[in-house]
This record gives sequence, structure tokens and C-alpha cells, in this order.
Amino acid sequence: MKCPNCGGTMLGDGFRTPIHCEFAYCPIDAEPDGKAFYCGLDKEVVESLHNWLGSSGRRFFRTLAKLYKGDVIPVLKLNYARKHVPAHSVHLREGMQIRNYLRSLPNTKGWSFDQFENDYHLYIKAAMKEK
Ligand SMILES: [Zn+2]
Repeated sequence: MKCPNCGGTMLGDGFRTPIHCEFAYCPIDAEPDGKAFYCGLDKEVVESLHNWLGSSGRRFFRTLAKLYKGDVIPVLKLNYARKHVPAHSVHLREGMQIRNYLRSLPNTKGWSFDQFENDYHLYIKAAMKEK
């Protein structure tokens, strides 16, 4: 089953875990047999980012996802546990390029600054898959 919004994989079995898009926020206390959770991703934005990245761009982010255990934006955790220094995301040049590209799309005209900052990595994850 594919998510109708982003075309991503629907996870969960509706018995032990709720049915949810792999990019959706799914509360931990949600009833497993309750409603399904869908992401808020825009399918057209995912499609155009997929094409814009090209196969080498998609490969680049899949490599990052492998290196950073599922994440495409590396998080610096230097002294995180020992000195309780907060973890913070590493701002890749590529991340800025992605946000700039997303800003150029007609579908993102109404997006807030926070929406670009918070959601762009989800769009990368959805767009880096090969169809
Ligand atoms: Zn989705």
C-alpha cells in the first residue's frame, strides 16, 4: 500500500501498530486499529525534487541515509552524552540547495520559513527513492 500524498510506503499493521505513512507523525499512544496517519507531503513537490536531484543526487542522499542510520541530514552529537551539549544538525551546502530549489516551486509559495526548515529532509527522503 502506498501513501496517497507522497507515494511512500505505508507502515504498521492496524493491529499492533497504526497504519501510517513512513513520513507521517504517528503519536506513540495512537490506537493501533484507529485511523491511519498520512503525511502532509505534496506529491508534486516530491516528484519534481526526485527529477531535479537526478540519479546521482538521489544516490548521494541514499548514501547519507545509510551512513547516518536513516537520516539524510547529519546530526552532530559531539559531547552529546558526556557534556550534555545539545545535538544539532549539520548544515550541508546540499541542504541549502534543496531548500532553494523547493522555494522556486509554485506549490511551496505559501510555505513558512519553518516549514522549509522542518520538512525539507522529509522531502529528500521521499524523493531519493528509485521508482
Ligand atoms: Zn506519505
